[in-house]
Amino acid sequence: MTERTGHCLCGAVSFKLTAEPLATRICWCRDCQHLASNGTVNLLVPTEALAISGTLSDYIKIADSGNEITRQFCPSCGTHLFAKSSGRPQFRVVRVGNLDAPSSIQPHMNIWASSAPTWACLDVALERVEQQPLPPKPSPAQ
Ligand SMILES: [Zn+2]
Ligand SMILES: [Zn+2]
Repeated sequence: MTERTGHCLCGAVSFKLTAEPLATRICWCRDCQHLASNGTVNLLVPTEALAISGTLSDYIKIADSGNEITRQFCPSCGTHLFAKSSGRPQFRVVRVGNLDAPSSIQPHMNIWASSAPTWACLDVALERVEQQPLPPKPSPAQ
């Protein structure tokens, strides 16, 4: 297992991942486009595998599913780092661009592809899911 580290733009928030991602996806939902002006590249880890250092500010929005989505930002530089869903408390979403080594992971799926802008660059070699994908299977023992 590779231990991964990352931080926000200003460095006030840092984090460590102690498990391999359960999934890595590029999300084209409209909320992600507001956050990134593009798709967001996200990995999913078990909640207990994400260790955060520093203070976060939360923004909570109810998703179409009815779940409460909490998005977490650095209050100093505004970098968006993490998200969690009330419907899936066992997972944390981590924005891949904040990793110290973003090339250490490989996205394998475009999700919410139906809401991608016409100019979006979607790798046709990746699996395409028009909306929300199924959750990953339970983590194998690690
Ligand atoms: Zn920051
Ligand atoms: Zn999204």
